Amino acid sequence: MYICIDLDAFFVSVEQALDPSLLYKPVIVGGLPQERGVVASASYEARKFGIRSGMPTSLAYRLCPRAIFLRGNFQHYRLYSNRFHGIISSYSPEVDMASIDEAYINTAGTQRLFGTPLELAYKMKTKIKEILNIPSSVGIARTRVFSKIACEQSKPNGTIAVAQKDEIPFLTPLGVHVLPGIGPKNVAVLKNLNINTVQELLTTPDWILETALGSYYKILKFFIQGGDYQCSDTMKSISRETTLHEDTLNRDLIYALLFYLTERACSTLRKNKLLARTVTVKTRFSDFKTISRRTKIPACNAQQIIFEFGTKILEEILKEKKRIRLIGIALSGFDYDGLQSSMFMLKEERLNRLNYALDKARNKFGFNVLFAANTTVLKKHFKKSEHGYTLHTPSLSQ
Ligand SMILES: [Mg+2]
Repeated sequence: MYICIDLDAFFVSVEQALDPSLLYKPVIVGGLPQERGVVASASYEARKFGIRSGMPTSLAYRLCPRAIFLRGNFQHYRLYSNRFHGIISSYSPEVDMASIDEAYINTAGTQRLFGTPLELAYKMKTKIKEILNIPSSVGIARTRVFSKIACEQSKPNGTIAVAQKDEIPFLTPLGVHVLPGIGPKNVAVLKNLNINTVQELLTTPDWILETALGSYYKILKFFIQGGDYQCSDTMKSISRETTLHEDTLNRDLIYALLFYLTERACSTLRKNKLLARTVTVKTRFSDFKTISRRTKIPACNAQQIIFEFGTKILEEILKEKKRIRLIGIALSGFDYDGLQSSMFMLKEERLNRLNYALDKARNKFGFNVLFAANTTVLKKHFKKSEHGYTLHTPSLSQ
């Protein structure tokens, strides 16, 4: 079984834990009303006024002028997140942080020490309240997908366990918006077809769903039928690599190539509605010595963020000070998009919109309609074509 545990209104709860005078009041973290920010987190008292995350703070102010607006302090949130991780890790060796305030715990092998998954969940919840003074919600189910949905339904401060035989009865009366990765656009598309609940979705013929949602409907059905995140089934990794025309020490060129390859790999990642949790950078030196190094990252599909992790690895590798013959990047450890990490929330939301627009333009007009500024050095070294730069020996795998 999996336990999905999520801290309620996380940023606000941290502020309240640090300053109890904020308790039971409409509190909003995300900036002051006149600052053109967006709501990052709203207390349940503020949500009663219709305030939601992602909403401009100016609009939140109009909905509830007496709310307390805070800029927030990310260092505090990071610290609390680390302590949260520490607490749950003391109960199970298999803890997966899905975002800054949300984790999945595999309960396999914990029974003897901590009792049933439900008992374990209560223990963790109580400990979190005791140590961090923050309320949390819990979902327990056979798959991560169902545990996540149950967790969302149990908010705030609740616990829902779903037995395998109850999965479908639990799910069918709920609105389609509870399904992972569905997004407001697809919800609106389905609403137009008068498909509002999961029950209605399940009784709709596949060809209609395919017209409405494309191949994403298959992922939905896969989840509903008990499939889970971390799909190892079709794709193990997405990689892009190339050999250079001639071996080089030119750092600008090497970094630009890494960004370009990352960009290509990430657009494939997004096309498949996936997020990666592992980045591997591969290099081969002129003496044919090959180095691959990997690092774990918060689930992500933005080249701008993945590149940052990639450059840290590359930096280490380039300490060898030898000419580079080949460079490549591989993304792996997939999650389906929709588990949205809030680790980089504000930054990531901007990037998501940017990358979505980028993909759309490139699908329509070819990859080279837009080139990232940090790849301009490639112009000197490679020919451009409709499909991007013509690399010497491009190789890709999915
Ligand atoms: Mg939360």
